[in-house]
Amino acid sequence: MGSHPCPCGYYGDQKRVCRCTPYKIENYMSKIFGSLLDRIDIHVDVPAVQ
Ligand SMILES: [Zn+2]
Repeated sequence: MGSHPCPCGYYGDQKRVCRCTPYKIENYMSKIFGSLLDRIDIHVDVPAVQ
């Protein structure tokens, strides 16, 4: 939801320390992109007018 691309949300934050491993962040990102792609898929599917 925020602008920090990791599960804890502190990635890139200057006040908090991100403790996520690169693996976790990658997982998190792929989840986000996955849901984004799902939404896009649905969005594209809807206006299938012929
Ligand atoms: Zn983190």
